[in-house]
Amino acid sequence: MRLLVSAERVWTATDEHLVEDGAVLVERGLITAVGPRAELAESAPDAHVYDFPGHTILPGLINAHVHLSLDAGAEPINTLLASEDDELLDGMAERAEQALDAGTTTVRDLGDRNGTAIRIRDAVARGEITGPRVLAAGPPLTVHGGHCWFLGGEVERDENSLRRAIARRAELGADTVKVMASGGQITPNSPAMWQSQFSEDELRVIVDESRRHGLPVAAHAHGSDAITDAVAAGVTTVEHCTWLGPDGMDEREAVIRAMRDSGVRVCAGQSRNWHGLGAMIGEDLARRFHRRLSNLVEDGVGVIIGTDAGVRNSVFHDFAGALGLYEHLGFDNDRILRMATSEAAEALDLGQLTGRIVPGLRADLVVVRGDPLARLSDLGEVALTVANGRPHHPRAAA
Ligand SMILES: [Zn+2]
Repeated sequence: MRLLVSAERVWTATDEHLVEDGAVLVERGLITAVGPRAELAESAPDAHVYDFPGHTILPGLINAHVHLSLDAGAEPINTLLASEDDELLDGMAERAEQALDAGTTTVRDLGDRNGTAIRIRDAVARGEITGPRVLAAGPPLTVHGGHCWFLGGEVERDENSLRRAIARRAELGADTVKVMASGGQITPNSPAMWQSQFSEDELRVIVDESRRHGLPVAAHAHGSDAITDAVAAGVTTVEHCTWLGPDGMDEREAVIRAMRDSGVRVCAGQSRNWHGLGAMIGEDLARRFHRRLSNLVEDGVGVIIGTDAGVRNSVFHDFAGALGLYEHLGFDNDRILRMATSEAAEALDLGQLTGRIVPGLRADLVVVRGDPLARLSDLGEVALTVANGRPHHPRAAA
């Protein structure tokens, strides 16, 4: 059956940009046409019509950093540790649907337990559960007792062990490799956020073995040393990129230039709770911390948007809320929307599949009330999500 989705405007994330009074024709999961509503309606009189006056159609959003296996509650790790995989999978399916409610049609899951996000990915693809396209890393590589060790990704640091660990992830069906290059926030008694967990040489082995399996590498890196080593080792994306040293922030121009020149992207991993940071670490430091993202973009580094959904209070059902940070930093709405759609797709090597409204790409769409190009918060007013050609009516916000 063909679907014709029409609205006051279609924002395509291409150079053609906007179609006023436009429509998108969908057939067998693919976008087959985009153009003026009247023209498309005439060409497809048999199509099932979803018409949204006063709304905008955009490419489905891409949340480039989530953890479906964490529940975004007050104690996500304890909840995870108390759950068997079957129970965990039920919760993950629910959170996958919440992502769709928010217009997110692709998520990159950067660390689960036992490959559960890979199972969710496959269940979505088979149509057994309702959810976005999932790119999954499986358990993130970490050192013994290191950041997020409880996800099961602890590895010895000799070359053979590192290579074997990556081969195992490839066998498990992972789409990407995630390595905890530095410490993090949420693991008691593990290295500090600014401390490196792996050396540059060890990261090189990880990148090399991942490439042999055709897998990109996402490096969690808060510390400036870890960022420096990860970029030198040739990772695909740096997650967080917080520029922490032992004595505070330590932004490194030479590393930023290296990222720009080698095409390494940064994913911030910041949820809608970004406003609250000032109260925690002081307004001045919070401003500098957020400014690192506009500094990266000004210096030509690609930045994509992820929310670290699943960690404490970082919800799955409000991707739009996280985008407010970029508005606050002075990006225009068109640019922010591209970062969350076409630029993210390109960074994740999905540009020929999704991220724009172009005939031949998968039918990943979000329809929102109003006009997010004029008012970004309208992106949160989701009326319909189409994921891989399947329409989904969002449930009332949780
Ligand atoms: Zn994360």
